[in-house]
Amino acid sequence: MGMDLVLLGPPGSGKGTQAAILSQKYRIPAISTGDVLRAQVEAGTPLGQRVKAYIDRGELVPDSLVVDLIQHRLSDPDTQQGFILDGFPRTVPQAQALDSMLAALDRPLDAVLYLQVDPQAVRERLGQRHRGDDLQGVIDHRLDVFLQQTAPLISYYQAQGKLKLIDGAQPPEAVAASIDEVIRPLAVPSFGEASFGHKPNVSQVVSDENTKENGSNA
Ligand code: AMP
Repeated sequence: MGMDLVLLGPPGSGKGTQAAILSQKYRIPAISTGDVLRAQVEAGTPLGQRVKAYIDRGELVPDSLVVDLIQHRLSDPDTQQGFILDGFPRTVPQAQALDSMLAALDRPLDAVLYLQVDPQAVRERLGQRHRGDDLQGVIDHRLDVFLQQTAPLISYYQAQGKLKLIDGAQPPEAVAASIDEVIRPLAVPSFGEASFGHKPNVSQVVSDENTKENGSNA
C-alpha cells in the first residue's frame, strides 16, 4: 500500500521537519530535492557544479533536471510503500511531469499538504538558519520565486481536490498533529497499521468487509 504525499509551502515553512516526522511515522522515505542537490554540490559532481550558481542565487534549477532526479528516485524500491516529496514539485511543469510519472505507475498522489506561513514569519525563521542560501537578500528572492513560480501549484492541486491546508505557523508538534488529522481519514486500517486507500488489494478489502459484516457479505 502506498502513501504518496507532497509537502508544499514557502521556504522556511517547516517542510523538512514535517517530512522527517512523517517519514519516521509511516516508514516511507522523505525525498528532498534541495538536500539531493546540495549533496551533489558538496561532492563536486558535474550535476553539483551545474546547479551551484542557481542555489546560491536562490533561483530554481531547470525543471528537466529535478524531474529526471525524481523520476530516478521514484524507481527505487524503497518508494513502493509510499514517499513524501519535500520541495518538489516547485513549478507547474514539474507538477505536470510528476502527474504523468505517477499516472504511468498507476499511483496518484494521496494528498498535497500546504504548510501556510506568512512571509514575515518565514523571513524570521530563515534568518536563524545557517545555510549558504539563507542570507537576507537571497531569502527575499527565494520568497519571490515561491510566490511567482510555486504558489500557482496551490490552485493546481486545489482543482484536483488534493490540496489540504495546514496552519504552518504553529509549533512543529502541533503542525504534525494537524497533518495527522488530515491524513487519518485517507487511511484505511489494515492489520493495525495505517495505510492508504487508493489501491486496496483484495485481501484487505475482504478482511475489512469481514470485520464490518461478520463475513456475511464477503
Ligand atoms: P530547498 O532545500 O527545498 O529550499 O531547496 C534549495 C534550493 O535547491 C532551491 O532554492 C533551488 O535552487 C533548488 N531546488 C530544490 N528543489 C527544487 C525544485 N523542485 N525545482 C527547482 N529547484 C529546486
